[in-house]
Amino acid sequence: MATLVKKFGGSSVATPEKMHGIVDRILRERKPGDRIVIVVSAMGDTTDDLLALAQQVNPEMPKREMDMLLATGEQMSIALLASAFCAKGQPAVSFTGPQAGIKTNDKHTKATIEDVSATRVKQALDEGKIVIVAGFQGITPYGDITTLGRGGSDTTAVAVAAGLKADLCEIYTDVDGVYTADPRLVPQAIKLKEITFGEMLELARLGAGVMQPRAVEYGEHNDVAIHVRSTFHDVPGTIIRREYTVQEKGFVIRGIAHDINVAKIAVRGVPDHPGVAYEIFQALADANISVDMIVQSARVSDNKNDILFTVTQTDLADATSVIEDLKDKMHFDRVDLEINVAKVSVVGAGMLGNPGIAAGMFGALAKAGINIAVISTSEISISCLIPEKDVKKAVNAIHDYFFPQGKK
Ligand code: ADP
Ligand code: ASP
Ligand code: MG
Repeated sequence: MATLVKKFGGSSVATPEKMHGIVDRILRERKPGDRIVIVVSAMGDTTDDLLALAQQVNPEMPKREMDMLLATGEQMSIALLASAFCAKGQPAVSFTGPQAGIKTNDKHTKATIEDVSATRVKQALDEGKIVIVAGFQGITPYGDITTLGRGGSDTTAVAVAAGLKADLCEIYTDVDGVYTADPRLVPQAIKLKEITFGEMLELARLGAGVMQPRAVEYGEHNDVAIHVRSTFHDVPGTIIRREYTVQEKGFVIRGIAHDINVAKIAVRGVPDHPGVAYEIFQALADANISVDMIVQSARVSDNKNDILFTVTQTDLADATSVIEDLKDKMHFDRVDLEINVAKVSVVGAGMLGNPGIAAGMFGALAKAGINIAVISTSEISISCLIPEKDVKKAVNAIHDYFFPQGKK
């Protein structure tokens, strides 16, 4: 008897037919006694549609109200999927995030899960029901609905799996697993059999949208192995786990990520004295805005600095207003914004002992005639900021260099 948590993303539940397909597959594959929890996203592009609607009503919608709105998408899916099971004679019950005991902090629109009690989920499983839980949402200690950031249903699934001590967490999606690059952009991308939490987290953080980064972190902290696999084909996908159990040949680099949800902010002419960077980045942190690449360059001409950093485009308006608010106090010259940029990154724990990875990446970009604006590195990744229009060419060029075997 196994406890299984299966998450289906938006494209997997986009139509009633697809929902019935999921029901048929689960009933067919289920072993007697299996306890099954299904986490679902909003159908198709529902979340994008709700965001567009919000934009029309109030472009600066209060974040609490935004969460009230966005959470409705997942609530539609759970009721429909539970009913699709009932239509086939299989008892099923749906729970919203709050009903499933998903407690979060109060950072509306990107809340973090703090605890999963899952009492009602366990009760329903004991009663022999299939349980359908709404992804992407939870509840604050004061009873307000929150959402977990784009892609947050992945995190719901892993958190529920951890809360139930499930045997496996399966993320069903519209690709067959985790590839060496986004297969939509790189036709030669290779499917990985396994990837470690650390490398997957880095890929996800750097833009590989197949998993939400927090889901991977949650899996690592709670030791929940995650199987990323296809909703539509019954083939093995990719296991995200602590250590490799199979050796895949020749892969020093495990993947290439790209991210177009990037904006560059340059604060020009910042007076050069101690505490300035602290002031800027603390103000951004207080507003719950993550900053990614940071470069400070000294201007010899007037003893001032330019401080340049990137944030997600989603955070650009908030970040700009935080910085503008500092202007009177800090006396910098001006703020420049740039949104037509993208970040490409290579990721692999093996790069630690392998000189030449950076040179290989820069060489591939140079050969493709692509200019690099900013470079940043971590122990297991190298990232370059490039013009957004070049992103497809860049990812393919880097992939061809590191994975020549993918080229047929
Ligand atoms: P879901 O709605 O199931 O959550 P997502 O769109 O969030 O699906 O994630 C799946 C998508 O992630 C794929 O369609 C693919 O384009 C993209 N993706 C980006 N990087 C990768 C990668 N390295 N491997 C697989 N898919 C990737
Ligand atoms: N529906 C949410 C989104 O589109 C959450 C998810 O799909 O994981 O981001
Ligand atoms: Mg997703």
